[in-house]
Amino acid sequence: MNFKDLNLIPPLLKALDKENYTTPTPIQEKSIPSVLAGRDLFGCAQTGTGKTAAFSLPIIQLLHEQPSRSGSARPIRALILTPTRELALQIADNIGAYSKFTSLRCTAVVGGVSQRVQERALGLGTDILIATPGRLIDLINQKRVDLQKVQILVLDEADRMLDMGFINDVKRIIAKMPAKRQTLFFSATMPPEIANMVKSLLVNPVKVEI
Ligand code: AMP
Repeated sequence: MNFKDLNLIPPLLKALDKENYTTPTPIQEKSIPSVLAGRDLFGCAQTGTGKTAAFSLPIIQLLHEQPSRSGSARPIRALILTPTRELALQIADNIGAYSKFTSLRCTAVVGGVSQRVQERALGLGTDILIATPGRLIDLINQKRVDLQKVQILVLDEADRMLDMGFINDVKRIIAKMPAKRQTLFFSATMPPEIANMVKSLLVNPVKVEI
């Protein structure tokens, strides 16, 4: 199995080649076709399994295949929520590399750094937003982020977001986006609160366990 067998488009294949990725990892092999088909997904996987590319590659492909508007008129079409600044910046870095040969833009908004710089990036328009919940809530409250056009939501490391006390922020953020969307939910463990969220947020999900 190679990435071409997963029906990825040439701009992605070229980027993966540049990154020296030759073979999809098991979670990529199992997730990419379902995400491309528009399915909701529950992934039980740790960091280090190739989880980031498993959700990022099909998201880039789905968004690239839609006509996008230029400049600040571009709405946020995919939102990735993750518990820590380090994870958010890592995901943004990966998406930047994977989307290098498309015209998609991605931006990370995280706590602990100047909000001004992030506001400027948001003002230029972004297709994919990667965020930690606290900073995103601040930006939503200040009406600097509009989530009404989000089509794909990723909850990354949902159990860690729960442990870190972010779950109410996450629920408030989800309430700001359309109910009709594709949701990809990743958690390494399944405490009752996570099981409840999976049940309420995902529609007929594909389950992938690694
Ligand atoms: P992740 O689990 O998403 O944090 O990925 C772990 C590491 O594996 C990251 O450094 C990725 O760049 C790398 N990686 C992900 N998928 C592949 C692949 N198919 N081939 C080689 N390296 C990969």
